[in-house]
Amino acid sequence: SAVDIVDDLAAAIAARDAEVGAYLSHDLAAAREAAAAADLSLPLGGIPIALKDNINVTGQPCTCGSRFLASGYTAPYDAGVTERLKRSGAVLFGRTNLDEFAMGSATENSALQLTRNPRDLSRIAGGSSGGSAAAVAADLAIAALGSDTGGSIRQPASHCGVVGLKPSYGRVSRYGLVAFASSLDQIGPLTKSVEDAALLLQAIAGEDQRDSTCLKVPVPDYSAELGKGVAGLRLGIPREYFGEGIDPEVRARVEAAAKRLQDQGAELVDISLPHTEHAVATYYIIAPAEASSNLSRFDGIRYGKRADQPADLAALYQRSREEGFGPEVKRRIILGTYVLSSGYYDAYYSRAQKVRTLIRKDFENAFGQVDAILTPVAPGPARKIGEFADDPLHEYLSDIFTLAPNLAGLCAISVPCGTVASGEGTELPVGLQILAPHLGESTLLRVAKAAE
Ligand code: GLN
Repeated sequence: SAVDIVDDLAAAIAARDAEVGAYLSHDLAAAREAAAAADLSLPLGGIPIALKDNINVTGQPCTCGSRFLASGYTAPYDAGVTERLKRSGAVLFGRTNLDEFAMGSATENSALQLTRNPRDLSRIAGGSSGGSAAAVAADLAIAALGSDTGGSIRQPASHCGVVGLKPSYGRVSRYGLVAFASSLDQIGPLTKSVEDAALLLQAIAGEDQRDSTCLKVPVPDYSAELGKGVAGLRLGIPREYFGEGIDPEVRARVEAAAKRLQDQGAELVDISLPHTEHAVATYYIIAPAEASSNLSRFDGIRYGKRADQPADLAALYQRSREEGFGPEVKRRIILGTYVLSSGYYDAYYSRAQKVRTLIRKDFENAFGQVDAILTPVAPGPARKIGEFADDPLHEYLSDIFTLAPNLAGLCAISVPCGTVASGEGTELPVGLQILAPHLGESTLLRVAKAAE
């Protein structure tokens, strides 16, 4: 029964989450009641779903992994995806760890807790949706939602060995998702299988008038296409994603996955996405620029933290932000404010927008020749916790394969495609990234199912 499922989860969380650190909070007693009352005839009737802690659920905390919101903020309303999950019968029982305001690639930027990779506890779970990925991988959740601005669903999914889907820009409402970079953010599922990803996407996709970027277009039946196979499909292999800097074993696993799709009748086509090398620089101008604007709402007055005994109003703003935000968030705000400031706007922000258009056109050209594109998700497997701790640039560079799909608004998925040996007795998962055109989720899921 649905109550048994919640009880099993509660037992698993009690046994294992102390070492994994996937959850920031949960309410299993309330979940048990919700499960008992659930309408099992609904698509997700009685199924517990974990949510990244930057998605609002009425009455639950929403810390964003930040001290700013950890001091007592509770959500006064449901996000669009929360409403849709509830309407589908899901039980929303727990909140997963993340890099502060979703800024990072390891979940090490969470101000609240460390999340470890369940496949090897000495390693990162990836990020920023590291808690969601670790929860699903460690059987501490059946499925979870994350958010993806530049890889935050796909990269932790790849590192933990689960499926992670970033929907096309506009496919899923972001109403009630705490905004990081509004022209890039999307909410999507992390699941144990491609079939589950299709079911969750079905539940959360569709129009929402409260998010003006959310598209009013019909939602196809995603599960219907899953079994169609890849015979006759053309799959692009972009040479820029298989060159220098990628771990040779990771490359071998991704190439073997491509070969298996070829064996099932797909045609592999060499393609070029010539502006790939500029994706990191472009993203790390646009995302911080938008973040600096979005995070101005954290002023010490409206949400969460408020500094004690400020001398005046300016001191209230300054000290609340100084005390509330962690180092990576401050770095992004400074970077973003700089690239938007008069005198630098044309040299940085406006130029980055032009390069963004070139990156988008690369994909438009490619999708004139192929149905989907195959790439690695990350240049290497999950690294050790603490490695590169004071090297943000190294961290930014590791996002090289996941940023361009967000800049272009495409849909993308990470599917496990094998493991590499760590040399210390553990096997580290590797993800295959599949990209499809804007609103091409049906094709994306069909290829993913064949690759699974
Ligand atoms: N790692 C990227 C960043 O730090 C992407 C994060 C995300 O997708 N939320 O900005």
